[in-house]
Amino acid sequence: MTSGELCPSCSGERLYNLTFKHDGACPLLLPEDSTQAADHDRLLGNRSSFVREATDTERTLAAWIGMPDIDRVTIDNPLTVKVDWVGTRRRLLRVGGRPWFDPDADTSP
Ligand SMILES: [Zn+2]
Repeated sequence: MTSGELCPSCSGERLYNLTFKHDGACPLLLPEDSTQAADHDRLLGNRSSFVREATDTERTLAAWIGMPDIDRVTIDNPLTVKVDWVGTRRRLLRVGGRPWFDPDADTSP
């Protein structure tokens, strides 16, 4: 198990994508829960997918799991998230106009 497989704050296990099993006191739990609720509401509005700006927590987690080019994020090259639903919420990320990064597709050690 590599370090990116455990939450950088509470050491909870990474379940899939950017989703970790945070403990109740983890400072990343509340922002992640709030983002998930907001994403769920948007998906319920009959949208199969949408793109939004990444949250600070998502940026932290993307860097933690080793997303390429995460260090190139700037105002002109923002980190964006494409949210869709494939039986569960999936988040793809990209920096500026670079290709989408799927955290689940990265199986490098
Ligand atoms: Zn955590």
